[in-house]
Amino acid sequence: MADSTCVVCGTPPTDRYVVSLHGEKTCVRHPADGTCALCGRPGPDGRRGWSRFTATTARCPTCARQAVDTLDEARKHIPLLRGEMAALGIALAQRVRVTLVDPDGLVDDSGALCLGRTLQRTWVETSVTDVLGIEIARGLTETHFGAVVVHEIGHAWLAQRGAPDLSPQVEEGVCELFSGAWLKRRPTGFAAALRRSALDNPDPVYGAGYRMVRDSVVSHGITAVLDSVCGRGRLP
Ligand SMILES: [Zn+2]
Ligand SMILES: [Zn+2]
Ligand SMILES: [Zn+2]
Repeated sequence: MADSTCVVCGTPPTDRYVVSLHGEKTCVRHPADGTCALCGRPGPDGRRGWSRFTATTARCPTCARQAVDTLDEARKHIPLLRGEMAALGIALAQRVRVTLVDPDGLVDDSGALCLGRTLQRTWVETSVTDVLGIEIARGLTETHFGAVVVHEIGHAWLAQRGAPDLSPQVEEGVCELFSGAWLKRRPTGFAAALRRSALDNPDPVYGAGYRMVRDSVVSHGITAVLDSVCGRGRLP
């Protein structure tokens, strides 16, 4: 998608413009009342092809074309994702069920949209955690869908490995690392842009956690990091 023309007026931007995660350009002079929830493209301002994502956010036509909107579409991707995760060393001992849910149901207490959630149950007497299933927002692009499934399966994998009480930063950081490793193997510019945006994420848990775990992997290697996290509940 190395198009040099603006997606609204079809001519090369002569003034300032915004580049979405797909690499699509939009001149800033075009009126916009928000951005695509998934790629950051300005819009929708009544433009054709935009659709509702959540009650307060919209999805651009490019993201909508790649959307995983139904459970059947999700099921097509899951066996491939499991294989790719096993190749990354994160195979699950037990299968977990993946379901699609309305993204509005995944807005957290702070009002921020999260794209997936792992349902877990911890037995008080034994502290053993069971993973009951993974919920993924309906309507993500295939690339977002894969990255979110891998992230959530990361939580399930940590639970199945019996990782003791992790800080939110370490837990989310490890899951973002898995998801980043999956994105890194995708050949598209969009996957590279998504991975970059996760690494630049200003969030103190997700972004800072990812950078902290990534730095630890650079110093100690992935095996030492995962052994330490699963055995002692902290980074080496
Ligand atoms: Zn334009
Ligand atoms: Zn978009
Ligand atoms: Zn998470």
